[in-house]
Amino acid sequence: QPLIQIKDIGRKYVIGAETIHALKSVTLEINKGEFVALMGPSGSGKSTLMNILGCLDTPTRGEYILNGINVSDMSDDELAEVRNKEIGFVFQTFNLLPRSTSLDNVALPLVYAGYSKKKRDEMAQQALESVGLGNRVDHKPNELSGGQRQRVAVARALINNPSIILADEPTGNLDTKTSIEIMGLMEEIHSHGNTIILVTHEEDIAQHAHRIVRMRDGLIEDDYPNKDIKSVS
Ligand code: ADP
Ligand code: ADP
Repeated sequence: QPLIQIKDIGRKYVIGAETIHALKSVTLEINKGEFVALMGPSGSGKSTLMNILGCLDTPTRGEYILNGINVSDMSDDELAEVRNKEIGFVFQTFNLLPRSTSLDNVALPLVYAGYSKKKRDEMAQQALESVGLGNRVDHKPNELSGGQRQRVAVARALINNPSIILADEPTGNLDTKTSIEIMGLMEEIHSHGNTIILVTHEEDIAQHAHRIVRMRDGLIEDDYPNKDIKSVS
């Protein structure tokens, strides 16, 4: 059974007299362990699809089954619960708490999961070590480089052992060298069996993924295995 089963979903926005069909009809299956790049021009529906995949939003038509759970018609509270358990998010702008240390930023998702402070700190320490930041646990975001900040964000995304990592332009604010480092980290995470869905505008970045999905005008225009996978290591 695929990890993600999306069956003919639509998402429309009604604003006054106008209806915008952000997603017209999207059908997509993604298996556990896949590394997918989602591409397409601005306005093609990538953010709308990522919001639905990440259980931040539900489709106005069709079905989304995540890990065997039909999340299409869930309430916001139910959706939040699935989201906390199943999804790790990585953003272009890192979205770290500016006044908190790396350790506290990474440990935050564990507060909702009900672990003790000692256990949370141990787990966060280990997660930071796994992304190469064992010596930066007490630093705050403004004491870290962009690449280090994104590593903290990746550690935070992984801390709950989610089913899917959703990364929205994770290299969008990084220089080329640092982008390649972050893609190396993504590859490592993927090699441990994690499922990654990555939105990017950059063809070079998308080449690290094993499958490429291209959207246009609220539809999937193309979906194919990447024959020319670029690897950092
Ligand atoms: P990008 O995909 O380039 O990062 P966005 O997803 O932020 O850009 O926005 C793409 C388009 O969607 C823009 O034309 C923007 O005006 C529109 N848009 C995004 N969010 C909203 C919203 N909440 N209400 C109306 N239009 C929106
Ligand atoms: P992308 O991420 O590929 O740029 P989006 O999913 O942001 O595309 O947008 C797809 C379409 O839906 C666009 O026409 C955009 O203007 C519209 N849209 C996105 N979010 C909203 C929103 N919250 N309210 C109204 N329209 C939206």
